[in-house]
Amino acid sequence: MFKAPDGDSDLIKKVAVVTGAARGIGLATVKQLISEGWYVAMLDVDAVANSEAHQSLSDATNVIAIACDISSPESVAAAAERVMSQWSRVDALVNNAGIAIFKPALETTFEEWSQVLDVNLSGAFICSQIFARLMLQGGKGGAIVNITSISATRASTLRVAYGTSKAGLVHLTKQLGAELGTLGIRVNAVSPGPVETAMAKQVHTPEIRSDYHDAIPLGRYGLEEELAKAIYFLCSDQSSYINGETLNVDGGFAATGIGLASFRNTSPE
Ligand code: NAD
Repeated sequence: MFKAPDGDSDLIKKVAVVTGAARGIGLATVKQLISEGWYVAMLDVDAVANSEAHQSLSDATNVIAIACDISSPESVAAAAERVMSQWSRVDALVNNAGIAIFKPALETTFEEWSQVLDVNLSGAFICSQIFARLMLQGGKGGAIVNITSISATRASTLRVAYGTSKAGLVHLTKQLGAELGTLGIRVNAVSPGPVETAMAKQVHTPEIRSDYHDAIPLGRYGLEEELAKAIYFLCSDQSSYINGETLNVDGGFAATGIGLASFRNTSPE
C-alpha cells in the first residue's frame, strides 16, 4: 500500500485498468482484482452493459466504469484522463477487449479484417502506449497483460483475421516487454483456450465445440474465473521476474499434437 498522491492520509492500493470489462473474462478479472484489494477502472465500448456490470458488483466502492472505444486514441486518452483524475496513478493494464469474426479467408471482407485488427491489435497498442506513460509517471513501473488466444499460435479454419490479430498481439507482447521492461513495466500475455462467454456463444458452432473437445486433454471449456486468476498473477508482484511471456491457459491444447481423440476412444473409463 502507499499514500494517496494528494497527501491524503487515506491509503489506497494499486490501480488496474481492464478493457472489455462489461462481461466475460474482463468482468471476471475485475472481480478478481477487487477481491485482492485493487482499485479498478472498467473500460468498455458498450456503455450500458458496462454500467450494468459495474452496478452488479457486490463491492463497487473503488471501481469506476468508463465508456471507451479502445480502437480510438482520442477515446482512450479521455479514459486515461478520467482514471488519473480519480486516482492519479495506474499500476496495471489488462488489454482484454476483443472481437471475433469467424469466416472463410476468401469471404472475409477488407472491412471485417480491418475491424478485427483495429480492436484486437491496434487497440492494445493504443492502450499500452497511453497507460504505460501514466505508469511511468508513478515512478514504480507496472504490468501490462494482453489477452491473446490459442488461435494466435496454431492456425485453424475461419480465423484469418482473428488468429492473425492475436498472433500480432503475441509479438506486440514481446516487443513491448523488451522496451518497456527496461523502464520497469513488465508486459505479458495470457492465451485462453475456449471459454464459455458471450463471444464463444456467438462464434463456436457445434462442430467447433466438438473439435475443441477432441483437442483439449482436460476435455472441457475453461471458466472465466480460471482465466482471471492467471491474468491477476501476471498483474501482481507474484510474477515480478516474468516479462515478454505468453502463458497458455488452455487445458493443454497448445501442448498437444495428434492422437488425443483416438486415445480417448481406446482408454478404459
Ligand atoms: P466477450 O465478447 O464476452 O467480451 C468482450 C468485451 O469487449 C465486450 O464487453 C465488448 O463490449 C468489449 N469490446 C469489444 N470491442 C471493444 C472496443 N472497441 N473497445 C472497448 N471494449 C470493446 O469476450 P470474452 O470471451 O470475454 O473474451 C475476452 C478476450 O479473450 C478477447 O480478447 C478474446 O479474443 C479473448 N479470448 C476469448 C476466448 C473465448 O473462448 N471466449 C478464447 C480465446 C481468447
